[in-house]
Amino acid sequence: LIQLYLPLNFLGFVYRELKQGLVDMEAMFTLMREKQEVADAPGAPPLAAGPGALEFRDIRFGYRPDRTILKGVSLSVPAGRTLAIVGPTGAGKSTISRLLFRFYDAQSGEILLDGQDIRSVTQESLRAAVGVVPQDTVLFNDTIRYNIAYGRPGASEEEVVAAAKLAQVHDFVLRLPDGYDTRVGERGLKLSGGEKQRVAIARTILKDPRVLILDEATSALDTRTEQEIQAALRGVSAGRTTLVIAHRLSTVVEADEIIVLQDGQIAERGNHTALMAADGLYAQMWRRQSEAVAAAEAAAAAQEAA
Ligand code: ADP
Repeated sequence: LIQLYLPLNFLGFVYRELKQGLVDMEAMFTLMREKQEVADAPGAPPLAAGPGALEFRDIRFGYRPDRTILKGVSLSVPAGRTLAIVGPTGAGKSTISRLLFRFYDAQSGEILLDGQDIRSVTQESLRAAVGVVPQDTVLFNDTIRYNIAYGRPGASEEEVVAAAKLAQVHDFVLRLPDGYDTRVGERGLKLSGGEKQRVAIARTILKDPRVLILDEATSALDTRTEQEIQAALRGVSAGRTTLVIAHRLSTVVEADEIIVLQDGQIAERGNHTALMAADGLYAQMWRRQSEAVAAAEAAAAAQEAA
């Protein structure tokens, strides 16, 4: 009984963890197809092909009936465009991406992917169409090759290498003791956060999803890591509908549209230039973060000079 109890309890733990953040939702879903809060509609067809146009129509949602988290959120991302979501912790940014992945169903409103209500299609086809690059990637205790090819089982060696190159991780892999056969994960070689993220990006490039969710790291990265990750992200999001939970100034400046989420509502929307001109919440956040970046750079320069 104990043997049976432990693994189930462990999965419960992983499941809770993963619902809290965007901790590798995709990888975990394959490991446990149990405990589903949402079910496929009877006879639901798979998601029909399309370019990846995304729309949220007046979405209201709460994890519990007594507390509404999203209070009527409407947004649309034309196929191939990038929408950056910014706002304070707890505003509901990750909740938006969890709803798109259909971890939960909204209490009212609808989410449309290429004109199809995501509740009307199979979850399997929906999740195949949505790729996630989480802040923290969990690598399998297996080879680097396996960890990348996981994005599309059956991918050829050439495809794995091409994805790794686009994700700026190929040269790094070649320097490892056994190249693509190097074992990583908790029991293998430990990779840094930036290296793991690039592996996750290579995996997502192979998966080739219609819509991409990026959960940017909140922690400061050194300039080189930052540049490598930005280059890798460009490789995966170019021409692909992208929803980014943005923490980096460079990401928001480049986004086609930015929404400022506050307390479950869209407080401001527009591109960087428009929002700066409006001189509201976004402009305030921008100034604060620019100052923080400048201070960090000055400190780094001082340290180098010393
Ligand atoms: P953000 O990503 O903007 O930091 P989240 O979307 O993660 O915010 O969370 C929005 C609110 O929903 C927070 O108040 C958070 O505590 C709450 N919340 C998040 N996940 C759950 C959950 N699984 N159960 C109950 N409340 C949750």
